[in-house]
Amino acid sequence: MIHIKTLEEIEIQRKSALMVSATLTQVASLLKPGITTLSLDTMAEAYIRDNGGIPSFKNYGPKGHTFPFSLCISVNDAVVHGFPNTRELRDGDIISVDCGVYMNGFHGDSAYTFAIGNVAPATLQLLRVTKESVYRGIAAAADGNRVGDISYAIEQYTNGQHGYGIVRELVGHGVGRNLHEDPNVPNYGRRGDGKRLKENMVLAIEPMINLGTRNIDQLPDGWTITTADGKPSAHFEHTTWVRKGQGEPLSSFLPIEAAERANPELASDHYQ
Ligand code: MG
Ligand code: MG
Repeated sequence: MIHIKTLEEIEIQRKSALMVSATLTQVASLLKPGITTLSLDTMAEAYIRDNGGIPSFKNYGPKGHTFPFSLCISVNDAVVHGFPNTRELRDGDIISVDCGVYMNGFHGDSAYTFAIGNVAPATLQLLRVTKESVYRGIAAAADGNRVGDISYAIEQYTNGQHGYGIVRELVGHGVGRNLHEDPNVPNYGRRGDGKRLKENMVLAIEPMINLGTRNIDQLPDGWTITTADGKPSAHFEHTTWVRKGQGEPLSSFLPIEAAERANPELASDHYQ
């Protein structure tokens, strides 16, 4: 069942989504070579709870197989669902940070990929294209369109124009009172296919795009997804309000990008 939100509910959900953006902004200001991803997770959990939220991902999942952290942190060839750990980040790493916040009955869900120091130009291009593809998807998240129109917009740009591998096993999703709701929003597909979009649905649009093959593996931790060929992968995500004409992101990259530009340890010139 696909939920249609009231305008009041959407404004509540926007606050959750913007709390995710604020948390990712904190991450952006802390990132540097030598920092551990576990320390970022500790900071993020404290920040979310201090601001009246609950980390959506912590203990998420079926009994006996729950995610143990507040952030999913996926470095280099890790695609999504990476565990924060005590490995120190290095110059040249890319780091995808996915965050969810539950507040006042609604979840926000957003992700951003950062580049630390001197990152290969081809990898920076992957980040730029993946981020742009989120906005192509959002533009297609219009009342009267179908899910496949979002999928096609992302696929056509990332794979059609740029030849990147699109992860198929993991997809975007509805988001609201539950972290994962109907419908699934694949990052590949055909125009006019799938469920019809209605005004005031809220979708997490989240392309997971690989520099090389689309094929993936899962690590023995039961969560972390990696590229099968070891090449880098990027992940950007916005909680998105379906509207007439085009969608509107409820989360925002603007404060994240400002923190990224202000942090000399991060490559950000490729975004401008
Ligand atoms: Mg997410
Ligand atoms: Mg999501």
